[in-house]
Amino acid sequence: MLSLQRCSKTLPRSSRALTQSRRPTSLHLFQALAARGLATASEPYDAVIIGGGPGGYVAAIKAAQLGLKTACIEKRGTLGGTCLNVGCIPSKAMLNNSHIYHQTQHDIKARGIDVGSVSLNLPTMLKAKDDAVFNLTRGVEGLFKKNKVDYIKGFASFVSPTRLSVSLNDGGETEIEAKNIIIATGSEVAPFPGGAIKIDEETIVSSTGALELKEVPQKMVVIGGGIIGVEMGSVWSRLGAEVTVVEFLGAIGGAGIDGEIAKTFQRTLQKQGMKFKLNTKVLSAEKDSSGKITLKTEAAKGGSEETLEADVVLVAVGRRPLTEGLGLDKVGVEVDSKGRIVVDDQFNTTVKGIKCIGDATFGPMLAHKAEEEGIAVAEIIKSGHGHVNYEAIPSVVYTHPEVAWVGKTEEELKKSGVEYKVGKFPFLANSRAKTNAETDGLVKFLVEKETDRVLGVHIMGPNAGEMIASAVLAIEYSASAEDIARTCHAHPTLSEAFKEAAMASYDKPIHF
Ligand SMILES: Cc1cc2nc3c(=O)[nH]c(=O)nc-3n(C[C@H](O)[C@H](O)[C@H](O)COP(=O)(O)OP(=O)(O)OC[C@H]3O[C@@H](n4cnc5c(N)ncnc54)[C@H](O)[C@@H]3O)c2cc1C
Repeated sequence: MLSLQRCSKTLPRSSRALTQSRRPTSLHLFQALAARGLATASEPYDAVIIGGGPGGYVAAIKAAQLGLKTACIEKRGTLGGTCLNVGCIPSKAMLNNSHIYHQTQHDIKARGIDVGSVSLNLPTMLKAKDDAVFNLTRGVEGLFKKNKVDYIKGFASFVSPTRLSVSLNDGGETEIEAKNIIIATGSEVAPFPGGAIKIDEETIVSSTGALELKEVPQKMVVIGGGIIGVEMGSVWSRLGAEVTVVEFLGAIGGAGIDGEIAKTFQRTLQKQGMKFKLNTKVLSAEKDSSGKITLKTEAAKGGSEETLEADVVLVAVGRRPLTEGLGLDKVGVEVDSKGRIVVDDQFNTTVKGIKCIGDATFGPMLAHKAEEEGIAVAEIIKSGHGHVNYEAIPSVVYTHPEVAWVGKTEEELKKSGVEYKVGKFPFLANSRAKTNAETDGLVKFLVEKETDRVLGVHIMGPNAGEMIASAVLAIEYSASAEDIARTCHAHPTLSEAFKEAAMASYDKPIHF
């Protein structure tokens, strides 16, 4: 069902000899696929996905489950993309374990647990993170085998709209023919604007380097108070660093966070020891011979310069689509001014037969958004129908407490002129949160005044990232606040705060 041809036909004699003597792997791959009855010159794949991240691997598995002959090409050597290798998973491992360390130091004594001296074993904590990554990336490989997805390790680029050249990781080249090609090449760290600060991944790091620091810095400056900056800043703050977050905008938490929640969140992180400089622009970061870094900043609107000192600087100013080397020009796939591949609502690029999902195209750069698109694109290829509800994509900041939201913010509703009601319930009034002595935060419902339909839910509190799933369901099914308020929630649970906030928005809460 595929056409996988060695490029040696087109190579000059000397390079062919080199390819054949030193680069046996492409031939082995071809033979292996041929032996499985998958490789023939005349039958292309139904779907080939470039990129094995959450968008790509989910699309590949779904396509195979739908009976399509599917291959996924990934250059990294492991599956799972940014998310599993250098993103969601390793950062959450560090967030979880640094929280346990911090809690053991500062919190458990009052809970009646006396421990001896507590010390950090950073290499073991980093290894626990690496183990989580290893197990999960291998797990995806297992899922490919189970679902009969051909996994091709190499770098793909377009030869034509239906043909890809793959430079194999183990050496050699192959070409693959496909009826449908899905670009799921994701994103990469955006450099500091203007190139004034160069990332060396040692002391001036991106999120990738911030997951690998060999020792806890004394002073860390995080440039960018979005989700990644705040999460990684809180990891190193809990492990003992003095962390200052410098943010150009007037609030932390990045795009989509509700203004009131952002302020409450910032206060909570400040209580935990993190410092914030909002409305502030970083101009430069210079390292001296001893390794100390001096950052120059000024007010975002302009003004006199200030300096900050740091041992480590994390540049967390965003991510940009990764399309380099794909040969998009060659086939005529268009990108916009931000480098995002242009697609329509069926994920079609400007070239027939080539689709794109995930971070490489529009929408929030989130793993679960990429996954939803992965499923929808496979269904569209198979049956012509597939859908993602972009109104119901949650966002989560995995600090402690967590912050999670879905739907509209109060600012957005005000701007759009929709009449709305607000219902809030603080965790301070929730029995489980009080019992657990974790009372920071609140649940906030925004509902349409006329219909009582839930338009947005914003939670800051323990397990907010789990609780937001109920709000996503509510928005997905166009539930009213009363629907939720009249739904029985187990006692004593944190989710009772969710129910009570719904009650507060359509009537009155009981416990506050
Ligand atoms: C520190 C950090 C923390 C994050 N935390 C979260 C979180 O908690 N929750 C969340 O939802 N999101 C999180 N994200 C974002 C999330 O990782 C991305 O949104 C998600 O991985 C996007 O999936 P994707 O499949 O579009 O692309 P990616 O995961 O980037 O995967 C694309 C893959 O394509 C491969 N590739 C690229 N070009 C080629 C080519 N030419 N040939 C072959 N292979 C190629 C790349 O090697 C890569 O593996 C985080 C990101 C970072 C950096």
